[in-house]
Amino acid sequence: PAPLMAGKRGLIMGVANDRSIAWGIAQQAAAHGAELAFTYQGDALLKRVRPLAEQVGSDILLPCDVTDEASIDAVFKALEERWGKLDFVVHAIAFSDKNELDGLYLNTTRANFARTLDISCYSFTAVSQRAVPLMKDGGSLLTLSYYGAEQVMPHYNVMGVAKAALEASVKYLANDLGPQAIRVNSISAGPIKTLAASGIGDFRFILKWNELNAPLRRNVTIQEVGNAALFLLSDLGTGVTGENLHVDAGYHTVGMARVDTAAE
Ligand code: NAD
Repeated sequence: PAPLMAGKRGLIMGVANDRSIAWGIAQQAAAHGAELAFTYQGDALLKRVRPLAEQVGSDILLPCDVTDEASIDAVFKALEERWGKLDFVVHAIAFSDKNELDGLYLNTTRANFARTLDISCYSFTAVSQRAVPLMKDGGSLLTLSYYGAEQVMPHYNVMGVAKAALEASVKYLANDLGPQAIRVNSISAGPIKTLAASGIGDFRFILKWNELNAPLRRNVTIQEVGNAALFLLSDLGTGVTGENLHVDAGYHTVGMARVDTAAE
């Protein structure tokens, strides 16, 4: 049989380095035959993203800051010129002021609330608007969420509110775009040590807690998120849209910490 992603062209947004979740997804998509383009946020990241793109045979590297509409427009204009069509987009982008990912949600400022929701939630809609006209044979749009959207997690604060809005927008976009055979889903990943995660207070404790209490008794890897993404991005997932797939070693199913957690 032909490779799962043969003939599919996709845009990967959110690679910062080789620990990025977007990179885990890019590797799996490329390994199964997808052709990829990458965005990078500013020149400082280009030197990290270029060698990774080369590793998966991609020479399409486009600067993109999602707070800038013109920069998103330029990405999709370049893709239209180069490919003429698009099959999938991976949106693995989030940001909040580090100082507000510590302490109380109560203290969130108006400015950081707006910025966090803009970058971490609205940008997925902004990107979808530009991707849709290129998805001539249907497509798959995928974003990344976290359990802090559903339940209160320590220090996640305004990012939890942004992820809740993101998960709701996945459902609205799925309903808008279903008639065009464009599917919209999110993966709710368990905690993984990445650049973005380093901004979250007590992150090492969160990792340890998940390891001790998740049904699989361990944390997940970016490769495992990549595997699940492959299902949603490929034709294996053609019956799935508006879904939030937990790739978290089962943590979200557990209602109470194990009694022996403290002893381990
Ligand atoms: P990462 O730091 O590797 O990736 C975050 C990316 O967001 C970076 O590439 C950064 O350049 C990009 N970004 C931030 N602001 C941007 C802007 N204005 N314009 C364009 N790009 C911008 O970290 P990651 O953990 O791989 O994060 C990817 C996604 O996964 C995020 O949405 C994050 O919330 C989500 N997520 C992470 C975890 C975790 O524990 N690491 C768990 C669940 C969900």
